[in-house]
Amino acid sequence: MRIGFEIHVQLRTESKLFCTCSTRYWEAGPNTHVCPVCLGLPGAKPLPVNEEAVKKALMVALALGMEVKDEVVFLRKHYFYPDLPSGYQRTSTPIAVNGRLGKVRIREIHIEEDPGRYELRSGLVDFNRSGVTLVEIVTEPDMESIEEAEEFLETLHQLLTYLDIVLNPSVVFRVDANISLEGGERVEVKNINSIEGVKRALKYEVLRQKRLLAMGKKVERETRHWDEARGVTVSLRTKETEEDYRYMPDPDIPPLKVTGEMVEEVRRSLPELPWERERRYVETFSIDPSTAHALIKEKELADFFEEHVQEISPKFWADFLSDRLRGELNYRGIRFSDVKDKKDGIFLVARAWHDGRITKEVAVELLRDLLDGKVEDVERAIQEAAAGVDEEKVVEEVLRDLPEVVEDYRKGKKNALNRLVGEVMKRTRGRANARRVKEILLRRLGG
Ligand SMILES: [Zn+2]
Repeated sequence: MRIGFEIHVQLRTESKLFCTCSTRYWEAGPNTHVCPVCLGLPGAKPLPVNEEAVKKALMVALALGMEVKDEVVFLRKHYFYPDLPSGYQRTSTPIAVNGRLGKVRIREIHIEEDPGRYELRSGLVDFNRSGVTLVEIVTEPDMESIEEAEEFLETLHQLLTYLDIVLNPSVVFRVDANISLEGGERVEVKNINSIEGVKRALKYEVLRQKRLLAMGKKVERETRHWDEARGVTVSLRTKETEEDYRYMPDPDIPPLKVTGEMVEEVRRSLPELPWERERRYVETFSIDPSTAHALIKEKELADFFEEHVQEISPKFWADFLSDRLRGELNYRGIRFSDVKDKKDGIFLVARAWHDGRITKEVAVELLRDLLDGKVEDVERAIQEAAAGVDEEKVVEEVLRDLPEVVEDYRKGKKNALNRLVGEVMKRTRGRANARRVKEILLRRLGG
């Protein structure tokens, strides 16, 4: 099995690629962020390429370790669809080539204009999105399983978040996936909007193609559409070639010169990349590599770690976030960004556990209640939990109720102390602090 991707990312710029219209297409009524240029009206004269867009695309290129081209030409790619009134989409020659992300080679990246949005059912078109800058990332077909493909997309998603260049956080990228099985032709599935969608589309395609091959039929080279609602792919067209698009240089757009100074300026402006941050955590805070790796997966979680790392043991804090918190988030199928309004409470719970004010069991219970919206005032809940157990009293009861264990202890049976501690923990349903219970017991039993 061979899988490759073409990934489209909307770049965050103030204005569109060739005009001054706002890029925030989703915030306004349909067809309000438009002008003759991005509507593709005849005779409209586009502005030179948006420099901010070029810089953001270069950030992607450098983060992927690519060779930047010094001249980029804009081409017209012709096709007919209601979202494209001019009849062509402006797309650049590669701005950079030969990169890598993990084991996957990146063939090239381009800049292009996003078309408008056409609603197939209603027949309505909204051109607010038309002319927004896309960077297209083209990989080699280097992924050999759906798991590898998913891991690649997760890593790319993470990288794009760290670069902080994505226009609309609710649609980080749109993916065209190509897949070929042994003995079959390459099939491309267009326009999938999420990693989960890619996974489902690929699974569907593997089954469909395997079935065809098993019946002795051919898997033809074709382009298919992913129907998210029905969970199937549907044939769009077969035997499409590059010539069909009749690419030609756009006479309105002068070639873009990318100078060495420009590349260096962008290189200096690059933020810390995920793998650099991971290494820093291991070196600076002595966190083990797997914990650091889990911690940096979501940038906002890593930022939260750094916000409090001076107030708590870094190792404890890292474990709490990467293990406890992420476990609870995964269980609920959400990300840290979905609960970041609760982050003050999350830190209070971690610190109370760290300081021994509450037990691990109480901390976990509080964390769950907090995430599920069952606790309003976290500090009060911590105080109540901390004050709720009279450890002295429970120890006294246990000593009274289990004289034979006390006797065993006095005879020198080491295990007896653990049994007493265990009994106190059981009676307090885990709310007591085991270390303190042990201290109380030792004091009462005379050392
Ligand atoms: Zn415009």
